[in-house]
Amino acid sequence: MKTYDAIIVGAGPSGATAALRLAQRGVRDVLFLDRDRYPRDKTCGSGLSPMAIALADELGYGQELRERSYPIHQLWLGTPGGRRILLRSNVETVVMLRKDYDFMLVERAKAAGAEFRDGTRVRELIERGGRTVGVRLESGDELFARYVFVAGGAHDKWTSDPRPKRSISTLMGWWEGFDVEPNTMEMIFDKNLSPLYGWLFPESNTRVNIGICIDGQDDDGAKSQRSVRPVFDQFLKDHYGARLAKATQVGRLKGHPIVYTTWISNTTAPGRITIGEAARVTHHVTGEGIYQAMQTGVFAADAVASILAGAREESAFKTYEWKLRARFVPGFVVGHALRGIMKTSLLDKLADAYQNDAVRALVTRTVGSAMAGKRISEVDQPGAPSSRPIAPSPAHSL
Ligand SMILES: Cc1cc2nc3c(=O)[nH]c(=O)nc-3n(C[C@H](O)[C@H](O)[C@H](O)COP(=O)(O)OP(=O)(O)OC[C@H]3O[C@@H](n4cnc5c(N)ncnc54)[C@H](O)[C@@H]3O)c2cc1C
Repeated sequence: MKTYDAIIVGAGPSGATAALRLAQRGVRDVLFLDRDRYPRDKTCGSGLSPMAIALADELGYGQELRERSYPIHQLWLGTPGGRRILLRSNVETVVMLRKDYDFMLVERAKAAGAEFRDGTRVRELIERGGRTVGVRLESGDELFARYVFVAGGAHDKWTSDPRPKRSISTLMGWWEGFDVEPNTMEMIFDKNLSPLYGWLFPESNTRVNIGICIDGQDDDGAKSQRSVRPVFDQFLKDHYGARLAKATQVGRLKGHPIVYTTWISNTTAPGRITIGEAARVTHHVTGEGIYQAMQTGVFAADAVASILAGAREESAFKTYEWKLRARFVPGFVVGHALRGIMKTSLLDKLADAYQNDAVRALVTRTVGSAMAGKRISEVDQPGAPSSRPIAPSPAHSL
């Protein structure tokens, strides 16, 4: 019976990136599998941050990503008090439909040498002597590996983290024939969503996705009883009523949780390593998880490749978890400060003072960097509209 070096359960950005990285590091017997048939959809705003693009460059597909995605040059930030400010910066952000993005990653990993099976659901992990040694498929077949990567996303069942899950609730939809402001995203910290936000991400010059996120738990950790649908309907009415009147909805509305944590923990067990949203590595204010999934996939692949080359499992796994903490926990802690700020009038006050050059540069640097996950600064783009606050117009009412 064949024993793979690695079996990866889930081929989202975490699993496919781990497969790609393992193959790039010369690990040959890598199998990654997904229960869905590819290309498959994932409920997602499909926004790829500057950090995701930089990592795509490192993994060798940055150029293809730029060519196939929709570029974003500026961001309208809506404040809880109903003002809005335009952030323009020197960073790259793109939107690429997850169906296409994830499939591109899968194709890259296959081309690098990893074996892929779609339409293949894992029913359970196989444990022997306190160690994960393989997976049992829905079909009953058993597959064995020296390492199993747990990459099943928000609903994953095999995380070794016993803590209760915290999550953000979302609802989103897609519209064609929309009056798109080219290359411009919107993130609106509407007070009804406080401390989180609603978004509009353009996927082309005519098509957008619009969604909201709200906390899935109350402050005491109990599941929120709030229903997302009426909040979403109100959000659409308040912000996009006029622009949506001329657009056509594509498909149905979709919701999906975003699982998060502040302190990353319990990501490994003997023979098993957890990555991506299964490891709860998403940003709890922006909801960003694609870059985080990719980066965890890279760190985990590096850890397992080093073990296969002779390093001790225990120390490689420890290094993996500390790398995750060093990379992500500071941003998650800043996220708590951002959540606090969104509950005050501070952002409204900054919006009022936004004409002032120093304030504008400060907001771009601090708020922009916190959202982008990368140090950024303001740029003036020739021909672009004024970076001063623009009074809400009926067509763009906030
Ligand atoms: C509404 C919404 C909007 C979002 N917008 C953004 C955004 O704009 N930008 C951003 O960066 N992030 C965004 N996110 C977060 C992002 O979508 C996730 O964090 C990211 O997809 C996590 O990647 P992953 O690889 O860990 O998991 P996933 O992408 O969820 O992939 C997991 C895969 O595992 C497979 N799987 C699960 N169980 C099994 C099994 N038993 N057997 C075989 N296969 C299995 C699934 O089919 C799936 O393909 C958003 C999330 C939501 C819900």
